[in-house]
Order: sequence, then structure tokens, then C-alpha cells
Amino acid sequence: MSKIEELKKIESKIINEMQCPLKDAAKNLVFGKGNPDASIMFIGEAPGAKEDELGIPFVGAAGKELDKLLRSIGLTLDDVYIANILKYRPPENRDPAVDEIYRHTPYLIEQIKIIKPKIICTLGNYSTKFVLASFNIPNMKKITGITQLHGKSNALVIDSMEFNVIPLYHPAAMLYNPNLRTILGEDFLKMGELLNLKIPEKVLEKKNIQETLGKF
Ligand code: URA
Repeated sequence: MSKIEELKKIESKIINEMQCPLKDAAKNLVFGKGNPDASIMFIGEAPGAKEDELGIPFVGAAGKELDKLLRSIGLTLDDVYIANILKYRPPENRDPAVDEIYRHTPYLIEQIKIIKPKIICTLGNYSTKFVLASFNIPNMKKITGITQLHGKSNALVIDSMEFNVIPLYHPAAMLYNPNLRTILGEDFLKMGELLNLKIPEKVLEKKNIQETLGKF
């Protein structure tokens, strides 16, 4: 079975078998998007209104910021695979509840097993804690916050899968806190250098990351 077929199977399992009140309230399943052969996988938190409307992750304001950050290191949303902790939108974009994390993440784990990424970039606290706790939900509370963890690579082996995890601030956070724009820009740059990507000259100059990102 191809990766696309395997992913379709998981998507159908969510549609046909998963039970969760969020599913009843949402307009669409937001499963994942991108290149199934990508070596980089991004994991966000939960779909927002636009994602719920279209059934595609990161198509709203946060997605536009993520796209700019990727392009700053010579990548696009098509070079990576993206999925979320929650597969359906929580009302008013509230934080994921523990029982929802239990219901939704088995499907995320299946996605990770199919994609087999070399690098997992977690966006924000929930996905960072979930992955760094080795998918063990009760242990998520033992993991410190994104402020301490962002931009640092962590080599992990979970269920015989080996990958590096790079926690990043969620791009939605920089819409409210402009200082995070600089931090995220620098963390992406570090990631690009780690991956030996061809970084555009103007970003490497690093004179003013805020201004540079504005140009993408
Ligand atoms: N924020 C997320 O974490 N995921 C999305 O799909 C959109 C916004």
C-alpha cells in the first residue's frame, strides 16, 4: 500500500470510528496535508475556523505565517507534512482537553508512523509536550514549557522510530506577540542550517529578521 493509501485508511477510520463531541460540532475533519515523503513533519495544536471550514490544516492566519517562515529557509508548505494534535476544531479555539488528546492522538501517531519523518517540529506547548513525553499523555505535565525548549533539537526514539524533535513557538502566538516573530525567525534559521538547506542570502545576513520575514 502506498503512503497516500495508508493515510486515506487512517482518515476513513477517523470518519467512521472515532467518537468525540468535537466531531459532532465541527464542519469538517482536518486530517493533514503536504508531502507524505517529507523528512520534516510539523505538528500543530488544533484546527481554527478557517481550517474547519475547508478541512485543511494551517490555511488561516497562522498558516500564512508558517508559510513565510518556511519560505525564509527555502521551503514551502509542499515540502513538509503537517498535522494537528486535534483532528476537529474545539469551540472558540479553546485549548485541547485531556480526554480529547486521548481520543485524537492515536490517529496522529499512525500518521507519524506512515510519514516516518527525520525531523518533527512541534508548534506550541501541546504538541511539544505530547511528543517530548514520548506520546505518553500523563507524562506531558513533566515536560517544561516552550519558552525553555524552543529552537533546541532533541534526539528521540519512540516505538523504534528515530527522529529529532525541534520545538517551536506556535506561529499564531507571534500574531499577538511581535517579539516572537524574531525568535521564530531565528529558530527557523537554525533549523535550516541544521538541515543544510540553501538559505536565501537576505535571511543569512540576519540584519533584521522581522523586516526580512515581512518580505516573504
Ligand atoms: N493552528 C493549529 O495549530 N493548527 C491549524 O491547523 C491551524 C491553526
